[in-house]
Amino acid sequence: MTEGLFDTSAATRIIRVAVPRPLHTVYDYIVPAHLAMPEVGARVKVPFGRGTTFGITVDVNVDSSHPRLKAILELTDEEALLSQHQLELASWMAGYYHYPLGEVLATMLPAAARRGAPASLDEPDFWGVIDATFDNPRARAQTALVNYLKAHPHCSGEALVAAGHKRQTLRKLLASGVVARTTPVHQETRRATAPELNQEQLAAVNMIRDHANRYATILLEGVTGSGKTEVYLRGMAELVATGGQVLVMVPEIALTPQTLKRFEQRFSRVGMLHSNLTDHERLQTWLKCKWGELDVLIGTRSAVFAPFKNLRLIIVDEEHDSSYKQQDGLRYSARDVAIKRAHSLALPIVLGSATPSLESIYNVRLGRFEHTVLSQRAGGASMPSFKLIDMRGTDQTDGISVPLEHVIRRHLNLNGQLLVFLNRRGFAPTLLCTACGWQALCPDCDARLTLHRDPLMLACHHCGLRLEVSRECPECGHASMLPVGAGTQRTEARLERLFPATPIYRIDRDTTRSTRSLEATLAKVAGGDPCIMVGTQMLAKGHHFPAVTLVAVINADAGFLSPDFRAPERTAQIILQVAGRAGRASRPGEVFIQSHQPDNPTLTSLIEEGYRGFADKELLNRQQAGMPPIKPLAMLRADAANEADASNFLGHARSLLASFAELEVYGPVAAPLARIANRHRAQVMIIADQRTVLHRALDYLRPALDEAAGKMGNRLRWSIDIDPYDSL
Ligand code: ADP
Ligand code: ZN
Ligand code: ZN
Repeated sequence: MTEGLFDTSAATRIIRVAVPRPLHTVYDYIVPAHLAMPEVGARVKVPFGRGTTFGITVDVNVDSSHPRLKAILELTDEEALLSQHQLELASWMAGYYHYPLGEVLATMLPAAARRGAPASLDEPDFWGVIDATFDNPRARAQTALVNYLKAHPHCSGEALVAAGHKRQTLRKLLASGVVARTTPVHQETRRATAPELNQEQLAAVNMIRDHANRYATILLEGVTGSGKTEVYLRGMAELVATGGQVLVMVPEIALTPQTLKRFEQRFSRVGMLHSNLTDHERLQTWLKCKWGELDVLIGTRSAVFAPFKNLRLIIVDEEHDSSYKQQDGLRYSARDVAIKRAHSLALPIVLGSATPSLESIYNVRLGRFEHTVLSQRAGGASMPSFKLIDMRGTDQTDGISVPLEHVIRRHLNLNGQLLVFLNRRGFAPTLLCTACGWQALCPDCDARLTLHRDPLMLACHHCGLRLEVSRECPECGHASMLPVGAGTQRTEARLERLFPATPIYRIDRDTTRSTRSLEATLAKVAGGDPCIMVGTQMLAKGHHFPAVTLVAVINADAGFLSPDFRAPERTAQIILQVAGRAGRASRPGEVFIQSHQPDNPTLTSLIEEGYRGFADKELLNRQQAGMPPIKPLAMLRADAANEADASNFLGHARSLLASFAELEVYGPVAAPLARIANRHRAQVMIIADQRTVLHRALDYLRPALDEAAGKMGNRLRWSIDIDPYDSL
């Protein structure tokens, strides 16, 4: 017998393992006698190919038809790390997103757990003195620490370090039995005074209560500032008081200390999963949630996979937000996975938004979702008024038209705060030679380079390339380069010139590389003094700026002109979200929108009829075009250094689909962004009347395409995107 291989005829200790490899299969292994049998859901270390990998046990005591099996090397978890419910969720995702089970399971785990970190919580880092007689003049650091600890019982290790003591000293004292760990005293549940709910909020909270312990998706459609968060807090309270846990999902950008504070003021055991945590911290929070040491978990996209002991309610705030859709690897929608999760656990899920996705509006219409509406702003604030500035024939400099300049001046004179929205960072989106017409293009992408200042450079927003800017045209040599169009830096500079006495804060990805700097800016704004914020959609989401009285949208047209089928929906959402920052407190707000196409029906319906009017029209458009949410859509994408590789591969895909007469198949065509980082991108759109037909076709297609791609080696990358967020 070859070493490491066992004869399976005699063995009964066989388990089935899913490994994180791009292979749609699971593998059988033997558990050697010196190891305990893993539980289903436990991690194991197994030999794989020429190396080793971790895997998740998906079945035990299986009959294997395989004649010879390898043995597992290590049992990483004595208890299951993933529950039966999570395994079922994984297997549903593997089917729905046509993605390998082992990779789905790996995506669900925190990075530290993927690397084999033990599933154990840190020992509590709180300290007390046991030997009160300790006094050693020759160990001054130790004596000082003991004295400090006597004065501050239950002091945390962090606080000791902050007070100037060393971890090393602490360890010495622990070893000699002078100090010991203490259990932290739980803070009493804090109960910040909650406002009295209005009728609509009450109805929404009652709807959540009425559905406790059974599945329902509730769309909470509430205008910006209508008190949706207050509804979440109230809807959660009873469940948490009776030992339940609540998962609160928020978009990436909205997970601010502001958000967290609102939850921490009402509940004591609140955990947070966001991108600024270390892998270790992330795993710790995940495990606390699993063992019921947290009542509320707030997190971004991947928090949808967190384990719970007693989950009773899921909330998805800003459910329309694009950050819920993962755009690479396992292309899941966290909102949709959350709904699936609520369904299989028989619990209610609340989707909140001022601008619900057309998917959710359609599901309400079909009777699949419950619906509750907050039509008024809470606490007496009124909705802002909308006005269009017709830019045709209007003078403007660096994005600011003359009429807008007057409006800004008027609001500043009334000591208001202002928000100027422009969804384009950098100084100018185009650099042009006025002598010969040359434009700065990215050599590696089919895209223009954006001119940036501070530091001065040309940057590609698609591949990250950075180039120096020269005064002379590389084509004709004339010093006649002209920045065309305005980005946030340029508009900021213009505002500084127009309003030198007013503080101006730019908020975009370039100024807020760290959450700290964003927090610092937001703290200044919170002071309430007049100021102008100029920024990208980072400004639009979640923030509560009570003193903002004017919101200006610099260029409403850009979004409506995109070829993507979701562009109108996305643009309408962002305009209303950013507009929603205006007049959230006692002073009424105004919104001014600059447009070169003031008659654009999408824009006018949005302004005259609000989001619902817009959404009804747009749903009709989608119906006529046979697009989502009416019909399900999948996108096949391929990219390769060689254009023909990508299009031939997708051509093959198309021919394989020929036997599915019920499908509409479009392409292969070049993607609207046809080349990024020197890779040519092509796509095929597949639309079906029925989801089952779409999935049957993809089940048939995937193995065939895996094989075809395998023959092309590393030259080709390809993916299936179910319910794609965009078609770019
Ligand atoms: P949304 O989440 O819908 O944008 P918020 O929950 O942030 O709205 O509420 C906006 C503001 O109104 C907050 O300052 C909140 O404390 C306040 N608020 C919410 N509900 C009430 C209420 N019933 N009475 C008074 N103020 C309220
Ligand atoms: Zn030139
Ligand atoms: Zn590029």
